[in-house]
Amino acid sequence: MQPNWDAVRDEVTRYLQALLRIDTTNPPGNELAAAEYLAGVLQAEGFDPIVLESAPGRGNLVVRLKGSGEEAPLLLMSHTDVVPAEPDKWQHPPFSGALADGYIWGRGAVDMKDTVAVFLMLMLLFKRRQDAGAPPLKRDLIFMATADEERGGHLGAGWLVKHHPDLIRAEYAINEGGGHEMRFGERRYFTVQTAEKGLARFRLTARGEPGHASIPHDKNAVVRLAETVARIGCSPLPTHITPTVRTLFLQLADDMEGEVGEFLRKAVEPEHTETCIHALPLPPIYRHLLMAMTRNTATPTVLQAGSKINVIPSEAMARVDGRVLPGFDHDTFYAELEPLLCEGVELEFEDWGPPLESPVESPLFDTIRAVLGDHEPDAGVIPWLLTGATDAKHVVQLGTKVYGFTPMRDEGDGGLMLAHQHNERISVNNLLFSTQVLYDVIDRFAGQG
Ligand SMILES: [Zn+2]
Repeated sequence: MQPNWDAVRDEVTRYLQALLRIDTTNPPGNELAAAEYLAGVLQAEGFDPIVLESAPGRGNLVVRLKGSGEEAPLLLMSHTDVVPAEPDKWQHPPFSGALADGYIWGRGAVDMKDTVAVFLMLMLLFKRRQDAGAPPLKRDLIFMATADEERGGHLGAGWLVKHHPDLIRAEYAINEGGGHEMRFGERRYFTVQTAEKGLARFRLTARGEPGHASIPHDKNAVVRLAETVARIGCSPLPTHITPTVRTLFLQLADDMEGEVGEFLRKAVEPEHTETCIHALPLPPIYRHLLMAMTRNTATPTVLQAGSKINVIPSEAMARVDGRVLPGFDHDTFYAELEPLLCEGVELEFEDWGPPLESPVESPLFDTIRAVLGDHEPDAGVIPWLLTGATDAKHVVQLGTKVYGFTPMRDEGDGGLMLAHQHNERISVNNLLFSTQVLYDVIDRFAGQG
């Protein structure tokens, strides 16, 4: 029996409004207030939620709905922290949770307190169903709402993985990073994020000989650094086609007529990828995105050298934001960069988060495809590779297969593009859509059928 969706719409809206009114801007975070709010709602319905502080004020919530244990747990993973907002640029204040024009407004409305509210609602719905006499799910359902995702997750998901792995150990997880409607040509698609690039930030240090600027020489650290930075910034690294991108391109190719279909089909051959991407009739931003999905990237962002105009410094430094595809590690990424380093320039990794890829074919992916087929029969379902990073990088260390799927229709309002922007908001319709689709996914994936 399906829940009363009219009542659910109002209830999940209230949860989201309440969450948006708790200021969890990170830094400093203060996610404890959000964790305690969630714990209160869950306790009132007979759950035993756990709130753990990784540092003062940095609260993490974990709660479990016991299943029959026939199959391994399913984890619903979310974060409660948000990025800063500039209140004077908003139509409705960012921590108001205002309900206006069919939207719920606030920082975190799409990243990702919406999903925190949806997961909370789902936990309650499945518990109520069980309490009313329905058989338990085959899998434990674990809900986690953690701190610190926006700053790397080291005090949130990363901390839980390290200190309380048994609380969140699961075979599969549903995470942010996918589920959004996109249009290619005439067709609509929903993404399922199966892969995520890893973080590979590094520092370049150029060393040379100091001297007086009036007598130039060929061992100037500034010149060595500048040349290396220019090489790294201007030359795309080699192409690699991951299983996710291969499936994505070929599936889109099957749906597209004529030339576009041919370009996409040919784009899975690394020697043709770059030319084909540039030949696609897409706005530049999409071409850049497809380029980033098919290679490791290294983007210089910080430069530091010299302090006096007439002195050649002996050292110059740059920081580079690197992102690696699934399958790469320090050594294999370094091997691609090494030929670009000028004499006297050293590369040192500063921050590393592993890339990940879950199977493009799996029971959870198949379930998502089937459920979306019922809700959105005209839309396709495509695997997706995220060029950014989420908390999945922590959770996969427990062997969990993570899929990014927080369903959202494109209502022409910016949708997920509003994440981290002014006037972040989600429509009540989309909040309900997400709840309904995920309810069916969990029911079909973990229910007794
Ligand atoms: Zn997020």
